[in-house]
Amino acid sequence: MMAALPLPANGARDHTLDACFLGPYGENDTLLEKLLVEFLRDHVYWRRNFHPEDPPAIATASAQHPDYLAFEARMRRELHQLSAALKKSVPFHSPRYIGHMASDLLLPGLAAQMLTLPYNPNNVSEDAAPVTVDMEVQAGLQLARMLGYPHDPALPACAFGHLTSGGTLANYQALRLALALKAFPVALRAAKVPDLDLPADDWSAFNLTAADTIVLLEQWQAWLAAQAQGERTHWHKRVEAERIEQRGMADFFAVHPTLRVPLVLAPVTAHYSWSKGLKLLGLGSQQLHLVPTRGMRLDPQALAETLAACVRDRQPVLLCVAVLGSTEYGTIDPIDAVLAARKDARTQGLDFSVHVDAAWGGYLATLFRREDGSLRSRDEVAEDYVHFPTPDVHAAFAALGDTDSVTVDPHKLGYLPYGTGAFICRDHRAMTLLAERADYVFHGSTPGDYLTRYRNLGQFVPEGSKSGAAAAAVYVTHKVLPLDHQHFGRLPRTTVRAAEIFTACAQRFALDVADVMHVLVPFAPDSNLVCLALNPRGNHDVARANAWVRALHDTLRCDPSQPLQMKEFFGSVTTLRPDMLGPLEMQRILDALDLDPDSLAGDGSDDRLVILRHTLMNPFLIDHENEISYIERYFEFLQRRVRAPVLSAGIAAR
Ligand SMILES: *Cc1c(COP(=O)(O)O)cnc(C)c1O
Repeated sequence: MMAALPLPANGARDHTLDACFLGPYGENDTLLEKLLVEFLRDHVYWRRNFHPEDPPAIATASAQHPDYLAFEARMRRELHQLSAALKKSVPFHSPRYIGHMASDLLLPGLAAQMLTLPYNPNNVSEDAAPVTVDMEVQAGLQLARMLGYPHDPALPACAFGHLTSGGTLANYQALRLALALKAFPVALRAAKVPDLDLPADDWSAFNLTAADTIVLLEQWQAWLAAQAQGERTHWHKRVEAERIEQRGMADFFAVHPTLRVPLVLAPVTAHYSWSKGLKLLGLGSQQLHLVPTRGMRLDPQALAETLAACVRDRQPVLLCVAVLGSTEYGTIDPIDAVLAARKDARTQGLDFSVHVDAAWGGYLATLFRREDGSLRSRDEVAEDYVHFPTPDVHAAFAALGDTDSVTVDPHKLGYLPYGTGAFICRDHRAMTLLAERADYVFHGSTPGDYLTRYRNLGQFVPEGSKSGAAAAAVYVTHKVLPLDHQHFGRLPRTTVRAAEIFTACAQRFALDVADVMHVLVPFAPDSNLVCLALNPRGNHDVARANAWVRALHDTLRCDPSQPLQMKEFFGSVTTLRPDMLGPLEMQRILDALDLDPDSLAGDGSDDRLVILRHTLMNPFLIDHENEISYIERYFEFLQRRVRAPVLSAGIAAR
């Protein structure tokens, strides 16, 4: 057990973080270099000691051969060109970068990934990754614990998680699993399996809760195992033939005409991966029903109305998505209210899975976990902040453990290299339904030891070959920084505090420039994403305000034709659309900016308001060493832009 490190008081510098990253200035270069050289040598010794009796296959003298030298020269030349070209990369490491969801990389993860790469494990199965495939399953359990899911593999209802290329594929996996769970009881009915306690009709079979479906699945597995060999094969084939995975979407709904194709409900703020996922699954993106929000958070009232309509029309719902940290605004949906709405719907015979898209906000859950895994109260968490967490935000995190599945992106707030999303489901027994080969046929009714079973990951995940090095990076990072508030939580703590400072600075900035500019933080931030709406004083036209903000953003974004150093800061933009905000919220924001609602053109690009968006995940936004606040510097920069005659005149002339 690791000794708890004392947390520094509000505003003080956290020295633990000093060793976490390469650093904005490359401060920890010798540390990383030492690690890389050490583990590269280690790898070489491993090769040499595999069969030391095998002589070197490449002659020592060949390093002097002209062909060798020519190859080396070509390689060096190309690598130098690559290295030079990469200098145009986005400076994610810099505290001047507050644009998209990227920052510096955690050293334990970066080093683990680099050290694993030359071993090149393939996590598709244990045959190709005897070491890292376990790490991936363990990383899933680490995330499950962070979320409040059962995470002891000895428990029958333990959670299961695996990595994906990113949040997009994790969301897709959620859709696959939810559909498999819904359609399976219908298949059992269609196959007329005897002796099972099956629902009375297709509608109730399609609306069985996930927990009841898992009970049924286990009963079916036990029943099957009890049959004689020939009977077992017969019944297995018969049920498989009825499953949606075998029949396909069109055929399945054709043979069950009382069932309509289910909807997926998601707030209007949902990431576009949901539209992709519905297309990929063959449900069609028209089945994606977007639920209105209040202040960019899913509106429980609107959800209740949608569900009531579904009950009335006997319209099945596959899944309801709640977003924990929306990509554009960082807002957090009321997960507790979504669960309550499902509870109500169940009394009317309508059931569905609840999936949390926490691709962005997942790691914020570390702020709410004690070291022993229990939940911290709102008051405990709040001690470290001015406003965070609101009671709604705390309730949302507290409810995570009661949802069915979650998407988390280690490559976002986990500060790890790209290629690591994660899908976690609360009860691993459902995963049997996704297995490419039904493993219970081979193992009888006991699915075998948890860890052994998932050593064949390729059976369960959407991908085939996948990076074991990425799994090692996630696992090792979670070991070095366990997913509780005392360890990993130090990172989000720093960034949520930075966001509070940023919001306070934005309010002061609004007063400072009130003579020339209307400035508004459109929504109180839930976490570490803060937006800023601006409109030059005297202007009432949305198109002009947008042109002004776009021109400002041009100074804040990557421009490959210019040296990077020309940019003082990097920010991003997003938009506010009346159809997303609802008329009242839109009116409130336009009023505060003194903009004329009639100038929101119904078509073209000015049917929405363009606003600045800031992702505050860099841990070095406040430099205690040199007493520099990059946040204050950013607002000084904005102040100069706002008062720059060129920019203002340029817009006025349009
Ligand atoms: C980033 C994000 C995704 C997509 O994740 P990728 O890793 O980019 O595939 C999905 N949902 C939300 C809320 C996100 O922020």
